[in-house]
Amino acid sequence: MNTVNGSSCDCAGADVGRRSLLKSGLGLGVVGVSLAGGLPAIAIAQGEAGVLTREQRDRLPPAQVIDLLKQGNERFRTGKMQNHNYLAQKRATANGQYPAAVILSCIDSRAPAEIVLDAGIGDTFNARVAGNVNNDDVLGSLEFSCALAGAKVILVMAHTACGAIRGAINGAELGHLTGLLDKIKPSIAATKYTGERSGDNGEFVDAVARTNVYRTIEDIRQRSEVLSTLEKEGKIKIVGSVYHLVGGRVEFLD
Ligand SMILES: [Zn+2]
Repeated sequence: MNTVNGSSCDCAGADVGRRSLLKSGLGLGVVGVSLAGGLPAIAIAQGEAGVLTREQRDRLPPAQVIDLLKQGNERFRTGKMQNHNYLAQKRATANGQYPAAVILSCIDSRAPAEIVLDAGIGDTFNARVAGNVNNDDVLGSLEFSCALAGAKVILVMAHTACGAIRGAINGAELGHLTGLLDKIKPSIAATKYTGERSGDNGEFVDAVARTNVYRTIEDIRQRSEVLSTLEKEGKIKIVGSVYHLVGGRVEFLD
């Protein structure tokens, strides 16, 4: 599993110094991006660490970034994670970052996005808030990530057995948490489910989490002209997913 398409890096425009970076195994699994036939060619290396260069990132179409995220989760899920050299990544990113994606996920300690996607330092922007809800500050962060910093994908990532979703279903109230859970509540009503509609029913909790992903994405599109325009122009993709605590799979939603 060293290559996706067998192509090695010709790294058009990259100098020798960059070439050494390209040989590194990026957290997202990118080591070499060439433009053979006008399309990026990706190679995967195990056991090395590196970071995305601007050239690599800019050449990646959004759909390919999604594929890389999927490949990263596959590595995590199967215990074949890259041997991230965080110190090397730290040094390589100190003077600049070119993340390929921005992830909006829950604060849950069991669903750390970068780990479950086998990403490294410099690979992804990360916004985390209970229940992966959208708000003005999150939206500003997403706009910064994509419109100013060049990220190609917004990944909204929920997870199974989410306490925030369960709390919203149960009508939990506590300080500022109450207002946060209010943002989730419309997803409860919008979830079609014929079984027991309670926070004690894990299946219903997960169904609401899924609805909440779709609603969050729609909210992002409706409230951000910046991001909806980028999406219409094909410059970014906005995609939803659910991380399964049991098994470790990140299920990408259509
Ligand atoms: Zn959660």
